[in-house]
Amino acid sequence: MNFKKLVKFNINNFIPYKSARSMCVNGSVWLNANESPVNNEFFLLNKNLNRYPYPQPKNIILRYSKYSKVNFNNVLISRGIDESIELFTKIFCRPKIDKIMYFSPTYDMYRITAEIFRIDTVNIFLKNYNNFNYDIIRKNIKFLKLIYICRPNNPTGDIMPKEILINILNICKKTSLVIVDEAYIEFCCYKSVVHLIDKYSNLVVLRTLSKAFGLAGIRCGFSIANSEIINILNKFIAPYPIPTPVCNIVNKFLSNKFISFMKKSVLEINKNKNWLFKKLKKIYFIKKVFKSYANYILIKCISSDFIIKKLESKGIILRDQNKNFGLKNCIRISIGTKLECKKLIYELKKISYKNIF
Ligand SMILES: *Cc1c(COP(=O)(O)O)cnc(C)c1O
Repeated sequence: MNFKKLVKFNINNFIPYKSARSMCVNGSVWLNANESPVNNEFFLLNKNLNRYPYPQPKNIILRYSKYSKVNFNNVLISRGIDESIELFTKIFCRPKIDKIMYFSPTYDMYRITAEIFRIDTVNIFLKNYNNFNYDIIRKNIKFLKLIYICRPNNPTGDIMPKEILINILNICKKTSLVIVDEAYIEFCCYKSVVHLIDKYSNLVVLRTLSKAFGLAGIRCGFSIANSEIINILNKFIAPYPIPTPVCNIVNKFLSNKFISFMKKSVLEINKNKNWLFKKLKKIYFIKKVFKSYANYILIKCISSDFIIKKLESKGIILRDQNKNFGLKNCIRISIGTKLECKKLIYELKKISYKNIF
């Protein structure tokens, strides 16, 4: 039997998401998935594993709504942001009729999820935020259901100015949802737009525990929006999205004590980022170091392929962006511990001394 034919897609044409973890390489310094470099300690309670969990555990929603300064009924918990993206695509977009828009280079799951559900995409390439072209939104506004804005943007690390975002919200006030992906917002929390959900009912903010909270392994995220949207999401989400052990862990890590611990580690990472930024700028084969509002730095060098391979042989794993349109020879570096940052600079300098380029 030809299973490739059984699948509803042309598998040969489909480019799936390549997660950092799926690439089997040996390393000791992992700077490729924007994870937290510090581990969290936890203990499981696991009292009632024979029972289904609560679909939307009240204690967690309450804690997260307090943490993000919104109301209880503005929050939905999901299996990471990736499940939220899937939910919005499934619920709001009709195949071959509706469209989604995103601004590249950006997080690849907006495109991939749309393709899986056969939703047309409008991909706007943004070199920077100067002279933002609003007409392109107006021109596509018919059947445009979702506009994704990754803020701070992965992999460039920049942040769309709030004025532009507000203009976009106004342009599609009656037609489309504007989904702001704040996966990295803790690294620049004063930039969050979550307080705008009351004023703009078409605004959705996506959040996760995978990055600043250091809990990528438990797969937990949140959608924040006006209560009507949250009610709709609740109708369509899988019956029991969050396993009981995950609920136990999340409940613990949304305590005041742990939130202040998380904030401290964010300060530490930002300190390492500033240190790394200065050091990277001094290396001659690095042509550009992008300013970043998140826990990673994008660099453009002479040969990304050579650098990636060379560092991999030293156990340092980085994320190649060379195939991303507009990011030729770019590499994304997640910010690790100070020691990991030092190791990285040590190895880069060694390449530098050899004067290969
Ligand atoms: C890492 C990342 C996500 C994934 O979040 P999960 O909650 O782990 O699914 C979503 N958006 C962006 C921009 C990311 O970089």
